[in-house]
Parts: sequence; structure tokens; C-alpha cells
Amino acid sequence: MATATQNAPAQTGTPQYDAVVIGAGVAGLYQTYRLNEAGFKVKSFEAGSNVGGTWYWNRYPGARFDSEAEIYQYWFSKDMYAQWKPTERFPAQPETEQWLNHVADLHDLRKHYTFSTRVTVAHYDETKKLWTISTDKGETVTARFFISCAGMLSAPLENRFPGQDTFKGRVFHTARWPKEAIDWTGKTVGVVGTGATGIQVIQTIASKVTKLKAFVRTPQYVIPMNNPQYSEADWDKKVEGFEDLKKRVQSTFSGFEYDFANGSWHDKTPAERRAIYEHYWKDGSLALWLSAFPEVFTDEAASADISEFVREKMRERLNNDPYLCEKLIPKPSDYGFGTHRVPLESKYLEAYLRPNVEIVDCRESAIERVLPNGVQMKDGTVHEVDILVLATGFDAGSGALSRIDVRGRGGRSLKEDWGKDIRTAMGVGVHGYPNLFTTAVPLAPSAALCNMTTCLQQQVDWISNCMIRLRDKGVTEIEPTKEFEDAWVQHHDEIANATLIVKTDSWYMGSNVEGKPRRLLSYCGGVGTYRGKCDEVAAKDYEGFAMS
Ligand code: NAP
Repeated sequence: MATATQNAPAQTGTPQYDAVVIGAGVAGLYQTYRLNEAGFKVKSFEAGSNVGGTWYWNRYPGARFDSEAEIYQYWFSKDMYAQWKPTERFPAQPETEQWLNHVADLHDLRKHYTFSTRVTVAHYDETKKLWTISTDKGETVTARFFISCAGMLSAPLENRFPGQDTFKGRVFHTARWPKEAIDWTGKTVGVVGTGATGIQVIQTIASKVTKLKAFVRTPQYVIPMNNPQYSEADWDKKVEGFEDLKKRVQSTFSGFEYDFANGSWHDKTPAERRAIYEHYWKDGSLALWLSAFPEVFTDEAASADISEFVREKMRERLNNDPYLCEKLIPKPSDYGFGTHRVPLESKYLEAYLRPNVEIVDCRESAIERVLPNGVQMKDGTVHEVDILVLATGFDAGSGALSRIDVRGRGGRSLKEDWGKDIRTAMGVGVHGYPNLFTTAVPLAPSAALCNMTTCLQQQVDWISNCMIRLRDKGVTEIEPTKEFEDAWVQHHDEIANATLIVKTDSWYMGSNVEGKPRRLLSYCGGVGTYRGKCDEVAAKDYEGFAMS
């Protein structure tokens, strides 16, 4: 099969590769697979020493996903789906990392990769219509297309506090966790952050350490995970449903199996609402959040109602202890359930009932700096710790690409552009940056609110099909028009601004990174709707994208 490189008209430069892909996570592996299958010459880079992406980097204690194993899957091979038999409903990190290694082995994907190598520079050459891409290892390659599968939560906020480098013990960001086991015995451990990550760390190490100091700033609404083991027979049954499930996740609001199915919150009596909440609560999944009622995201009364339900459940688990309830349960005035990412947890709240777990309230006094022996608060209190765990999150959505020197037309810088205003065309490209394709960047569901495997595969398929079409037409350059991008941003904002999410500070809004322009990262029109819009653009031969 002819490659796009071979089809390139003589006046454009002839790149070494049709495409350079960044990342060997869920998206990068599939992107590499798809382009290779389609006969493109692909070069892929990965900063880690092996495949896995999120599941390579986030090897902290307790790491696991909260999409069910039957939907956290690739859909391009039923055989592959049948072969890999997850052992539980929500498998832990080691199993997911092994699964991605299995996928790479099965399709011989590693041969396309250079590992332990970070892309640092990507400049577009308008004359030659190609990207020149350099790495931290001194390699420079050229490619017609530059495809980012760098992940939405892969730029960790590591250097959070002054003095971190003076700390005498070990300090880890959860997304840079070492491969060797950590000996917790006899240790006082500080954990900063109680997002989904900090929660998993706290619930996992509380019983292993001598003393745990949890630095809590914003408490979370949490749901207890129901995580049964899966037998081989259980999995064989799931395999029977492969085709239906594959179709279903593509059309739901969040890319999960479940969807809003209870009608309007307003049409239900309080008792009916309660029964619905209880039903999902028992399910022990994110269904309470993502399928109880759509109004949970948009309507103050519905939000208040479900929030109080979750608060009540949390109070019970904390034995109604006034101190713990005060510190660990969001107040009605804080924010509503689900306007923040909802963590699924396993005995997280119960960890605080242990005598060796102490809460350090960062709202009463903020963390000032790290000292050689611990953490100093603004009020002067020093918390001595032997190990400091930073579960402090990520520069989400835009961070991974902004940390690369990406330059488009006229040398414009993506970091500078996104530093002023984070805009994309449907999350698959950016005006001013021809032949750049993106996944898991802002203004698409894959930026935050989605079962990631569903949304990443959809974007990779769209990009791959687009590249095949361009090759068929002999087109060497594609770029979203300004008008198309403007219209998408406007559409995104209209939907976003109708939700309560925009009123809550969190990484969803970029407010966890100082100076980051505020905009809801995730497209919230629904995964099925987003897919439909992407398909429509493709069906109209990439209407809204200029080609030459
Ligand atoms: P995160 O949700 O952004 O949480 C960061 C935490 O660090 C917050 O509690 C934040 O407090 C705290 N923090 C940051 N700076 C601080 C400071 N100066 N002082 C005190 N506290 C500070 O990050 P994350 O927990 O890593 O989670 C990110 C996302 O990864 C999740 O929302 C989820 O989408 C994904 N994830 C998924 C799973 C899963 O599938 N089960 C597991 C882990 C992570 P404030 O809120 O007050 O800023």
C-alpha cells in the first residue's frame, strides 16, 4: 500500500515519517496500531521505559480505575477481549499495566517506539508542510503529521511547595512513583491531597504506616466501590455481550455502560428519588453520578438533594463523629455532588477512624513550605514526616502538550496561545497548527468526563480515518478553520455554562493551576452527541477543515 509520504507532491518536503505519535498509553498504542495497519509509516515516542501511559506512571499504592473492566477495553478485536480475563470489576494498576503490555505484545507495537524518550520540540514547517520533532535524547525526525496521545492527566504538579528539595526523607508525586516497593514500617507519612489519587493512597497505606498525616484542603463526596472478583466464567459471559456493549458505550452520556434512564428528577417524588439513589449506591460504581438524573449536573435543587443523600451516607460511615464529619464531608455551601470528579473508594472514610491517622486541615492553615524534617504550615506548626506523598494532581488536558515547545504557523506557540485561552477544534486539532492531531485535550469528552477507553478510541479512529482520506485525495495539509474552531468553542461554552460544574473549582476548570485560563476542559454534550458531531464532519469530507 502506498504511504502518504510516497503520495506527497514534489513541492512539499518529504518527511521521514507519515506520523509521529507521542505516548504509549491507551490512545498512543491504538493510534500506532491503526496507522500501521493502514500502511502509514509511524514513529512513536514514549517518555516511560515501557508501554502503559497512565498505568505505567501511576503505580502508587492502591491505584486502580473506576470504569468497569468490561468497558475499560479496546473494541477492535473480540479475540483480544476474550483472551484477557480481568480478575475483578475494577482491576488495580498492575493488572491494567500487564494488559497494555499484552496488547503491545500481541500486535508487536513496541517496534514502532523509542522508549525513555520525551518529545521536547515540535515545529511546523509551512513551506515543506511537515513537522520537525526533537527529543530530550537529541534525536530529530520529520513527519507529515504530529499526533498527541500524551494523555489528559500526565503533566503532574510535582514541585508544589518551596523547600521540597531540602526534604531529608523521600518525597514522591503519585504519578512518578518508583518501581520498587516502599517500606512503610515505622514511618510517619504525610499525604497531601484528597482527590481520587490521595484517597486511594490513604485507604491503602493507613494500616501499613506508623502514623499517617492526611493534609486535607477540599473534602470530597465519595462512593464506596463494589468490586467483586471476576471468574473466567463471569468473563466468558461478558464476552457474549461484546458487540452490544461496544455499541452501547459509544452512545451514552459518559461512555460508560449506564446512561440516564430515570427520566426527570422533577417528575419524581422524594421517595422515588431516594429509591433511585439507594439503588445506585448499592451498585458501588459511578452510576449514581453519571446515570441517576441529568439535573444533578444542571439544577441547584437536584444537586442539593443528591448531595445531601451522599453526605448522610458519609456521616453514617464516620459514626456521626462531629470532628470527622466537619473535616471530611463537603458542606452544602462548598460545592455540589458530581461537580468535581467523584472518587470511588474502599474504606477511605473508615481509615480516619484509625488512631494512627490524623487530619491536617489546610483550610485552617495552608501549607507554607517543606522543611528537611517535614511540612510547615502558615501558622508556624511543623508536621514532622519521614515520607511525603504528593497526591497534588495534574495540569490536566492542556498540560502535556503545553510542556512541549509546539510551534505552528508563523512560529506561534501553543503554550502561549493556551496560556491566554484554551481553544481547540472539537478536541482533535487546533487552528494555527496544521497537521497536528490531538487526543485527550480540552473541549472533547476525553479531556475529563468519559470512560477513557471509549473516548480515546473514538478520537483515534476519527484521526486515522481522516488521514486515510487525506492520503486518498493526495492532500498534504489539513487545518481546522478559525470559523470552525470559534463555532466549536461557542457550542462547548454554551453547554458548559448551563452546568453547575463551571461554578466549582477543580482541575475540571483548570483552577488547580495558577494562571491557567478558566474553561471547563471536558465537552459535556455527551459522548454519543460528540461522536455524532465528529462523524458528521467526516461525512461532509471534513467540513470546517481547510485542506491543500
Ligand atoms: P486532583 O483531583 O487534582 O487532587 C489534587 C489534590 O491535591 C486535591 O485534594 C487538592 O486540594 C490537593 N492539593 C493541591 N495543592 C494543594 C496544596 N497546596 N495544599 C493542600 N492540598 C493541595 O488530583 P488526583 O487526585 O491526582 O486526581 C486527578 C484525576 O485523576 C481524578 O480526578 C481522576 O479523574 C483521575 N484518577 C482516577 C482514578 C480512578 O480511576 N480510580 C484514580 C486516581 C486518579 P484542592 O481540591 O483543595 O485543590
